[in-house]
Amino acid sequence: MRYHSITASCFALAAISAAMGQQFADVNQKEEIKPIAPPTDASLIDAKYRNASLPIEERIDDLLPRLSMEEKAELLHGASTFTYGRIPRIGLAEFGMFDGPQGVRLEEGKPSTALPCGIAMAATWNRELVRLAGKVLGEETRAAHGRVILGPGINMMRTPLGARSFEYFGEDPYLAGMTAAGYINGVQGEGVAVCAKHWVLNDQEWARTVMNVDTDERSLREIYARPFQIAIDNSNPWSIMTSYNLVRGQYPSHNKKLNTLLYDELKWDGALVSDWGAWHGDVPAINGGCTLEMPSGKNAGKDKAIAKAVQEGRIDRNMFDAAVRRNLRLLFRIGAFDRATGGPANTPQQADIARRIAEEAVVLLKNDQNILPLSRDKIKKIAVIGPNADQYHTMADGSTLHTRGGSGAIRGTHEITPLKAIVDLFGEENVLYAPGFRFEEPKIRSCPNLKEMDPVDAAKQADIVLFFGGTDHTYDKEKLGWGVLPDSDKPDLDLKGKQAELIARIIEANPSVIVALTVGAPVQMEEWIDQVPAVLVTWYGGQEAGTAASNIIFGKANPSGKLPQTFGKKLEDWLSHSTGTISYPGVIEKDANGHDKRPEQRYGDGIWVGYRHFDKAGIAPRFPFGYGLSYTTFSFDKKNSGNKDTFEVIVTNTGKKAGAEVVQCYLSKPDGQAQMPVRELAGYEKVFLNPGESRTVSFTLTDKEKRFWNEQSGKWEIPSGTYRISIGNSSRNLPVTYTFEQEHTTPPPGNAIGTH
Ligand code: BGC
Repeated sequence: MRYHSITASCFALAAISAAMGQQFADVNQKEEIKPIAPPTDASLIDAKYRNASLPIEERIDDLLPRLSMEEKAELLHGASTFTYGRIPRIGLAEFGMFDGPQGVRLEEGKPSTALPCGIAMAATWNRELVRLAGKVLGEETRAAHGRVILGPGINMMRTPLGARSFEYFGEDPYLAGMTAAGYINGVQGEGVAVCAKHWVLNDQEWARTVMNVDTDERSLREIYARPFQIAIDNSNPWSIMTSYNLVRGQYPSHNKKLNTLLYDELKWDGALVSDWGAWHGDVPAINGGCTLEMPSGKNAGKDKAIAKAVQEGRIDRNMFDAAVRRNLRLLFRIGAFDRATGGPANTPQQADIARRIAEEAVVLLKNDQNILPLSRDKIKKIAVIGPNADQYHTMADGSTLHTRGGSGAIRGTHEITPLKAIVDLFGEENVLYAPGFRFEEPKIRSCPNLKEMDPVDAAKQADIVLFFGGTDHTYDKEKLGWGVLPDSDKPDLDLKGKQAELIARIIEANPSVIVALTVGAPVQMEEWIDQVPAVLVTWYGGQEAGTAASNIIFGKANPSGKLPQTFGKKLEDWLSHSTGTISYPGVIEKDANGHDKRPEQRYGDGIWVGYRHFDKAGIAPRFPFGYGLSYTTFSFDKKNSGNKDTFEVIVTNTGKKAGAEVVQCYLSKPDGQAQMPVRELAGYEKVFLNPGESRTVSFTLTDKEKRFWNEQSGKWEIPSGTYRISIGNSSRNLPVTYTFEQEHTTPPPGNAIGTH
């Protein structure tokens, strides 16, 4: 069974969603508990593996010899498209594995809390808040009788055109890994497993299911594997999903070398799940180290065939046993033999977490003469203009995942659009609404009685203009389907449609234009940015997106989001876009018969992803990585800790409003055997301070930040020389610096990855 089974269920979902079609779903669902069924084999009732107080490895040791070869084989594949585990004899009931990552996507079209997307979570730079997002996901997965959520997505944004970057955590492996760790700890704290995805080099949508991708060993480890490593060290994902694309000629599900890196070097003991349909044969997948095929139907013939292949030696016995053990470990970790499912879902507390994340994710990019926050009382008429003012981005309007971003689309119990939030604040009589143009014909209008105006007329009549633009999920999406498909990645860096022209016309009518952008990745703003006083990025903010934008614009909340991606001025500013088509998007050559060969891609940007390249090449971005304004101001003062590995800074709120600052610590290593980035994020901390309040923030460096992958020696090494630590509030504003001397060392191989 391949992708068609997923699309079939998607169509079923579409029909149900359309039938349900109302704006606010029935959210008062009862908490339904599903108890664990005892084994149907009565002789197992008192078996040791059923004793939840015993260590997991002992329970596995007890269960393994009790399983037939066919039962072991059955543990290596799912029970249906989105379920796993169905061996009643041993007391293992079928349970759900739901997409993620920004909510629990329920196949029956039921609602769940639509959280802000991955890039918004990263933009909060707040691990504790992201942990709460994970907690919501864990609770709602249990509520739907699931035990695994298919997220977080931790691929890297190496190109701003990668259409699925909105699901991921940005361009920096440290930020992505630490954000993932917060998320994972939240989910797994609820006894539900994450399935971190996609392992690995799956950083774009174009040709993703068929492309053969390669990159040098250094960038594989320092950039692309590193978020996985950091997540493993700080949270240990109980499962990881392979990617569709091939890596160095082999599907990751079959790639033993790649999976040895994950198992032995990154020291990871979880279950490796194939992306849906990325398991291309039992023999190569099991021999390659993949442990669980998804999706899959109940298929007795398959179990027999796997058992036979093991007996005949076509499947390596050790790989088979190791896969079964890893999957049993997952099953014991998620309580599949002991814990009932059920839990809270769609509660006001969960909705409130969605709102808090959406608010903390907003990045204020520009605020001339402190035009923001606006004061509600000083404004009589407000114009709300632009294609995203009343555009739904979740499935709460009855849309299907095809137009809401792909597998990560969430229904949401409701969605507050910016227009709705502003109308709630001002009353319909004071709001002049003009979409200008629409991305799609709306299924629901949040304010159906509001007359639509011409945008220039609306701007002329208003005291102030709020422009809600950006992109939608026809740009930021998972490209569903197999092969080389058109419109897979974004076409360019522009706002979708003729928004630059629309903004220009509005500015002529009224220069007080606040631009708020719903985007999943950097966009260019060069034509209009100098003419508007304020710009903010709200990302895809989930069901409370409009509330969050309004709360920031009107000062109910103080912005504290920071960019998880560099906002460049033009595409060629990214090295992925100036190293040839082999580097992005990849090339398709012809064979001797004139037929297309497999698409090939080789990352020409190496480790020079995002700000690492902008800094090295001396390119001025429009807005740098880590940047974001507040309605208050902060100062940074040096404070020597007296400990040579600990670097301290006193951060003070020097303004008049309470607010939060993200204190960022960057490390610069000496060039020597290799060229080092000008600086790399090595720590960060978000601190909330009242006016006049100060806090000391400490960063302690360990070997893992100091090391680099030496291509010549094939080892992690710590170069000798002078190191610099720079601390501040963006990658380009780092007022506090320290230096220290370091001897060259080669960390022992067993400890190569280190722990956080
Ligand atoms: C996506 C995964 C997703 C899976 C199940 C695949 O197409 O790449 O991220 O979890 O489908 O829906």
